[in-house]
Amino acid sequence: MEETQKKTPHVAILPSPGMGHLIPLIELAKRLVHHHNFSITFVIPTDGPPTKAQKSTLDSLPSAIDYVFLPPVDLKDLSENTKMETLIALTVARSLPSLRDVIKSLVATTRLVALVVDLFATDGFDVAKEFNVSPYVFFPSTAMALSLFLYLEELDQTVSCEYRDMTEPVRIPGCIPIRGSELLDPLQDRKDDAYKWVRHHAKRYRLAEGVMVNSFMELEGGALKSLQNQEPGKPPVYPVGPLVQMGSSSSARTDGDECLKWLDDQPHSSVLFVSFGSGGTLSFNQITELALGLEMSEQRFLWVVRSPNDKAANASYFTVHSNNDPFDFLPKGFLERTKGRGLVVPSWAPQAQVLSHVSTGGFLTHCGWNSVLESVVNGVPLIAWPLYAEQKMNAAMLTEDIKVALRPKSSENGLVGREEIARVVMGLMEGENGKMVRNRMKDLKDAAAKVLSEGGSSTKSLAELAQKWNDKY
Ligand code: UDP
Repeated sequence: MEETQKKTPHVAILPSPGMGHLIPLIELAKRLVHHHNFSITFVIPTDGPPTKAQKSTLDSLPSAIDYVFLPPVDLKDLSENTKMETLIALTVARSLPSLRDVIKSLVATTRLVALVVDLFATDGFDVAKEFNVSPYVFFPSTAMALSLFLYLEELDQTVSCEYRDMTEPVRIPGCIPIRGSELLDPLQDRKDDAYKWVRHHAKRYRLAEGVMVNSFMELEGGALKSLQNQEPGKPPVYPVGPLVQMGSSSSARTDGDECLKWLDDQPHSSVLFVSFGSGGTLSFNQITELALGLEMSEQRFLWVVRSPNDKAANASYFTVHSNNDPFDFLPKGFLERTKGRGLVVPSWAPQAQVLSHVSTGGFLTHCGWNSVLESVVNGVPLIAWPLYAEQKMNAAMLTEDIKVALRPKSSENGLVGREEIARVVMGLMEGENGKMVRNRMKDLKDAAAKVLSEGGSSTKSLAELAQKWNDKY
């Protein structure tokens, strides 16, 4: 056993499956390595071979960050309708025997001070306990959603109907009132297993020695203050955000980055970036409306297009790349008519770099929290177009509370129509409302830089934790 390995504090990180969960945890790991001389092992549950995006992201990390993919678990017994949260939670739960092997070997070879799990991976705490390793949660979403998780048992006990049928809005501690129908997806059907899994994990957050949340006071002051009120059984909450991948000019450009080259030729702040995260998909009819709305707006745009899916809005979440050629589904003549003013790329774009590009002036987003934070650190105002998970809550907060987003309304058939899209896009890029949200976003960009600077509040929060871990053993 190497003596240095035993001296360096080591943290094992257990992410829930999905790129959106891995990305902020990688930023957390980098900060622990660069600022506090920790070493890290990612222990990654899987239900199949790792994706290209996962592999290339993990292979580019500093040598102090190691990773192991746990053997794929078998999910074949689950029905086709099984919800994403159940799939994620079961992937973790069925990986516990192999997690135990990895933790055992880390305990033998490193100075393992903590196991950090995210969102739906608290089952890992049982293994941590067995080896006397401190359990922590990293919550990769909003303080609002974390506040809801910690309030969920009370809500569950006091409300008997489905939350979407409540006549009064839900009052999550420290947050704006929110309609029950806007709570996260797995809370929309209380009989479904996904609801049980969320409750299961939310309850287990109280077993953690601390919960890190990817947010900061200037962004979500109300929720964070309420989370930091001490109550028996409530773990300490550490705001450590915004932890996001940065698209700095130092990141190497590859040949495929056609969109960055295209952005280089566009005027300053003129382009609307349109993307629905790592897995968001739209229906065929909605793609048509969006295309025609973008065309009608006469604004410049860069659109990451996926093949339509008429069943689930998160259809690509586990696979990322859409199955057919997404360009086949665009309205006839659209690409020719918008040539020069718009660029359409299939499936994936280097989002962090796009958002940090000077030509990007707005972001039409599905409101995934990483996407929102990446926009915040770059001061790019938003159009909120939530699809799944907790995105409707995020959209409500961004438009009604923080006021950094405009939100198009859907019509009675559930579609957002082309005129509405054109109106909101023009409003963001050229209108008075756009100016307001742009200015507000600039303030948040400055605040984000401050909290992450030396002596900033998020830097201090993480330093406090690092110290706590370092003092162990
Ligand atoms: N992302 C990207 N290119 C894409 C789509 C997504 O780089 O074309 C990255 C994005 O920058 C963000 C993450 O994938 O870091 C998506 O996370 P988010 O929380 O926004 O949404 P999710 O994919 O989890 O729904």
